Amino acid sequence: MFIIPKFKPVKSKKSIKRIAVLTSGGDAPGMNAAIRAVVRTTLAHGCEAFGVQRGYSGLLENLIHPMGASSVANIIQRGGTILRTSRCPEFMTRKGRKQAIELLERHGIDGLVVIGGDGSFRGASILVKESGIPVMGVPGTIDNDIPCTDDTIGFDTAVNTGIQLIDKIRDTASSHDRIFLVEVMGRHSGMIALHTGMGGGAETIVVPEVRTTVNSIVEAIERGVRRGKTSSIIVVAEGCQFGGATPLAKELTKRGYSPKLAILGHTQRGGSPSAHDRLLASTLGAVAVHSLLAGVKEGMVGVEGDYVHITSFKRISQKPAVLSQQLLEISRDLAV
Ligand code: ADP
Repeated sequence: MFIIPKFKPVKSKKSIKRIAVLTSGGDAPGMNAAIRAVVRTTLAHGCEAFGVQRGYSGLLENLIHPMGASSVANIIQRGGTILRTSRCPEFMTRKGRKQAIELLERHGIDGLVVIGGDGSFRGASILVKESGIPVMGVPGTIDNDIPCTDDTIGFDTAVNTGIQLIDKIRDTASSHDRIFLVEVMGRHSGMIALHTGMGGGAETIVVPEVRTTVNSIVEAIERGVRRGKTSSIIVVAEGCQFGGATPLAKELTKRGYSPKLAILGHTQRGGSPSAHDRLLASTLGAVAVHSLLAGVKEGMVGVEGDYVHITSFKRISQKPAVLSQQLLEISRDLAV
């Protein structure tokens, strides 16, 4: 249950009339639900809504279009992003951003919602400073690696997808007495690995945040063997010290094991968003618009505990996202 802050819309000559939304960086399931929430909330408050195609690139290339209520119909259940997304190196230059600001001004956009990850928020923060246009961020990434929010849109779906795939792998692993290395996404973060591994009952979870050795992984396998286990599932974060599951498989092979590899890769990015992600995206997208209408100038709408709240982009850039050591310890105890 979300506890949502109450914002009072500011009514003045300067109040916001046109709000644009874009998705940037890696796509995540639930981004469409967030776009829908931004557009419908904007329209519900008597303002005009605009969609920017292809993230910050669309701001430079004038891919800015009005969006009506029906333009976001039938998308809440769809993965990916109807606005498409991109990585835009030009936006990292002052010249590129100047062009983007000119286009935003030409369209009369007086508020922007950026749905993306921490990179997108760094861009958003600079855009606010250089343009004076208020920008709210909505955390959309499967990695769940953004500080000041417990959750990001897409994470729950990615973890559920990973768990379903591990369940299938376990069926064959236990039938054939096999060791399976399952590589999951997450860039430099072990959040997806930890949650997928714990939910899938993995014997070992290898994350970038905690250094380990091949010896200790072998020990975990052997501990299982001594207890009569005939198969092992090892969940490996792509960003771990070994550089993913493939190099780790080579190390285990050198020590006489014959591990099988399953690289989940982009399967975890796709698919219909879970109920949780749809609710999260709908809530955060709506609150981003409420806060713009109430005169908030910048920041990310996140959720900590049950509380939806806003954190300035500066604070987000200063704080690291932390992996729960307690959860990691619990996962180790459960795998014994
Ligand atoms: P994510 O938002 O998923 O973390 P990226 O890190 O690739 O993805 O960032 C998405 C986009 O945000 C970049 O392609 C760039 O356009 C913009 N961006 C990232 N960092 C900056 C920065 N320091 N200054 C300006 N724009 C940035």
